[in-house]
Amino acid sequence: MTSTENSISTAKSSVNLDLKSRNTFGFDASAELAYEITAAEQIPHVMDEITEKKIPWRVLGSGSNVIFPKFLPGATLLMNILGIEIVQTNQEDSIIAAGAGVNWHEFVSWTLERNFFGLENLALIPGTVGAAPIQNIGAYGVEIGDYIQLIEAYDAKEHIFVKISKQDCHFAYRNSYFKQHPYRFIVTKVVFKIPKQWQARIQYADLAKQFLNNSSPTAKDIFSAICAIRTHKLPDPKVIGNAGSFFQNPIVAREQYETLILKHPGLVSYPDADNKRKLAAGWLIDQCGLKGQRMGNVGVYENQALVLVNHGGGTAEDILGLARCIQDAVHSKFGVKLEIEPNIF
Ligand code: FAD
Ligand code: NAP
Repeated sequence: MTSTENSISTAKSSVNLDLKSRNTFGFDASAELAYEITAAEQIPHVMDEITEKKIPWRVLGSGSNVIFPKFLPGATLLMNILGIEIVQTNQEDSIIAAGAGVNWHEFVSWTLERNFFGLENLALIPGTVGAAPIQNIGAYGVEIGDYIQLIEAYDAKEHIFVKISKQDCHFAYRNSYFKQHPYRFIVTKVVFKIPKQWQARIQYADLAKQFLNNSSPTAKDIFSAICAIRTHKLPDPKVIGNAGSFFQNPIVAREQYETLILKHPGLVSYPDADNKRKLAAGWLIDQCGLKGQRMGNVGVYENQALVLVNHGGGTAEDILGLARCIQDAVHSKFGVKLEIEPNIF
């Protein structure tokens, strides 16, 4: 690996950068050319170089929602813009801005330590602040989109910096305008609006169980409970490679749900908007007898069928091959299509 650093406002670049430790699947991978972005103003110059060289490019946070091939041609932008700032606080809400490279869980902890409550249900989600809006990260009934005021980004199509309002982010279930338009916006900063009014959200069964003897948990109680549940239930990527949930929970029309529940009375599902129904994808996979199954170096996690794991030495082809088998099995048993959640590079 070679690297060059010219000045503070120039991004550090590296060739043949090893990315094994920069993707939570732990796949062997390398980037032909990588730029470490530590300040927004470095981006236009980097993008000019990329345009001039006519090479492909992509943005990488901490690699917890990506599937890498062995070699990433062209340029990979490693987002490392740091800093958290309280922009304004009044009786109603607080405006807090965080750089795209800030670690998400550290940001959640930072807010709670300063008594800004609301993000606690999103504790311990791996990744960076800048990646969080891409799939509108969510857990335990809360989505980041609920707390975003605006996003600052570089628009790679128009070659300008933009501020994108929450409304224009088109946040939806594990989806956003950014996810729908990849290779367009490079998020540099996320501005959050956190209301002073706070309400506990503990409706998910695993969480509710933690508070059977505590009817008024604080945000910090919920934060601790979520950290404990997730640590117990999910595989630690440092120990066993994974990207969290591999498939999105499918949302089906009422009629399809009614047909399914007649045939499969144990079907796990939840009401969704527009009279639709969200099916628990993990349950569908489990019912196909796939939980804990192994296919070469990859497999379905033994404690949560929605998580696919790299037992060591697995590749993107291996995991996508396993994913196809799972999709086929679920489709043939339930007639439901499972969509892959991580981003395939
Ligand atoms: P990366 O994986 O590096 O990138 C993800 C995508 O975002 C890529 O397309 C990338 O190009 C793009 N991107 C990254 N940074 C930027 C930027 N600054 N500007 C523009 N595009 C960018 N997700 C949930 O929603 N809820 C969960 O509860 C959850 N739990 C998880 C648990 C585990 C154990 C793991 C491994 C993953 C989990 N995830 C969960 C998925 C993952 O943590 C999130 O999607 C996270 O936001 C990814 O952040 P990252 O920095 O690692 O992004
Ligand atoms: P869980 O609590 O066992 O629930 C299984 C599924 O049922 C979840 O996917 C969840 O949907 C849904 N669900 C459960 N209770 C619900 C309720 N009261 N209302 C609506 N939907 C409900 O799930 P888990 O695997 O332990 O994960 C817990 C939370 O962390 C979930 O929100 C999950 O999305 C999140 N998580 C996400 C990832 C990821 O990579 N995306 C990885 C790990 C955990 P939702 O997924 O829509 O919440």
